[in-house]
Amino acid sequence: MTIAIIGTGFVGVTTAAVYAEHGHTVYGVDIDERKVESLKTGVVPFFEPGLEDLLKKGVEAGNLHFTTSYTVAVPTADIIMVAVGTPSQVDGAINDAYVIAACESVAPLLKTGAIVIIKSTVPPNLIPKFEQIIRAKTQTEFYLATMPEFLKEGTAVEDTLHPDRVVIGTTNPGVADKLKELNQVFNVPMLVVSPQSAQMIKYASNSYLAQRITFINQIANVCEKVGADIQEVIKGIGFDHRIGDHYWYPGLGYGGSCFPKDVRELAHMADSLEINDNLFSWMRTANAHRVDEVLREFSSQVDGWDGKTVAILGLAFKPQTDDTRDAPAQFIIPQLIRAGATVRGYDPKARFMMTADLSTSADRYTPTSSIAEAVKNADVIMSVIEWPEIINFDFGPHKAQDKQQWFIDIRNQFDPARVRGWGYKYSGIGRNNV
Ligand code: NAD
Repeated sequence: MTIAIIGTGFVGVTTAAVYAEHGHTVYGVDIDERKVESLKTGVVPFFEPGLEDLLKKGVEAGNLHFTTSYTVAVPTADIIMVAVGTPSQVDGAINDAYVIAACESVAPLLKTGAIVIIKSTVPPNLIPKFEQIIRAKTQTEFYLATMPEFLKEGTAVEDTLHPDRVVIGTTNPGVADKLKELNQVFNVPMLVVSPQSAQMIKYASNSYLAQRITFINQIANVCEKVGADIQEVIKGIGFDHRIGDHYWYPGLGYGGSCFPKDVRELAHMADSLEINDNLFSWMRTANAHRVDEVLREFSSQVDGWDGKTVAILGLAFKPQTDDTRDAPAQFIIPQLIRAGATVRGYDPKARFMMTADLSTSADRYTPTSSIAEAVKNADVIMSVIEWPEIINFDFGPHKAQDKQQWFIDIRNQFDPARVRGWGYKYSGIGRNNV
């Protein structure tokens, strides 16, 4: 089949490279000229393990193309996937302007029988609107479907090559058959549901995972006060097969490009539908306050941030990505600077961008090119993201002599006894008796 993918971000490039790997002719379209020029030469303009090899393979094989021109990509396409961004607005609703623009651009170029798939995460009630927008600009017969994306940054290639399931949102049996044919190579369960249900599956999945993070943070808060240890509690609840011991991450709350945005949208949806006292609005507030809450707790342990030098290890929102959207460090660093600290930041791939309101304090943030440089003589070392390079680092030789240094283990990744053995004062999240 010939496939046009509109938007070549994390989702678009990965999807394009995987369908090209499976022998389809794929065009990736983006309005960002620099991104397209880079992709044409087989270079991924962001970090995603394994993606560049797959991209190069497709580009060199000649069946994976990138262009800024809809006219080049859309007229021959059997399937058009819209994978542009849907960032949050202030009120929590997504900004659907990019999806609308993509729909308007593809509409006049569609060939008869083309299937336009909304792959971007959008609220279910917007699907008919997108269909109307396309219909208003073409006389050609086309079909609109949805196919939400479940990949995770950091393992995007693996997730796309071997998804848990494929969800196809359509009520048209012919479209369902065609999309099943496209995806049968993955050999995984395929679920055909209405376009609205498909999008709700996406929102429900992400908000459930985010909810586990919010829940375990609440349990960690109680643990701290009652002398229990969250890691022991996680072990214990994990034996119940209804609960499991996986996917429990006490820490600074959920971040990244998807969970915060999708929970905010779900909260907005529930509020506007007058579904009162909804869990999502509460989660949204709890997550927004989480960094403040944790920093306040640690501030009292380290005797305030004013005048302290703090090393922040891990600037991306999780390991194996350079994506800093809603990453904890983006909130921690400005807070610490406002509280009077000087901050050094290290991440194997990501960078912290100073916000405009802190430009007068720009000298209070220093990016470093190694962990050793970041932690040298710091008053507080904060391990924020569990990059293997960070959690396997031997901090012992870097302990300053004759100086009290705190080691704050935001992800509870370190053995407290080992950290104390290095000479640091240890503190984690929800930890006691360690
Ligand atoms: P992204 O911000 O990385 O990329 C979006 C791309 O779309 C950008 O390159 C931008 O230039 C391009 N674009 C914007 N308007 C365009 C237009 N009119 N025509 C062509 N290109 C245009 O976004 P992403 O992280 O890949 O996410 C895309 C969608 O997939 C979002 O709705 C997101 O919620 C969803 N999603 C993301 C992930 C993830 O982990 N990133 C996972 C699942 C679902």
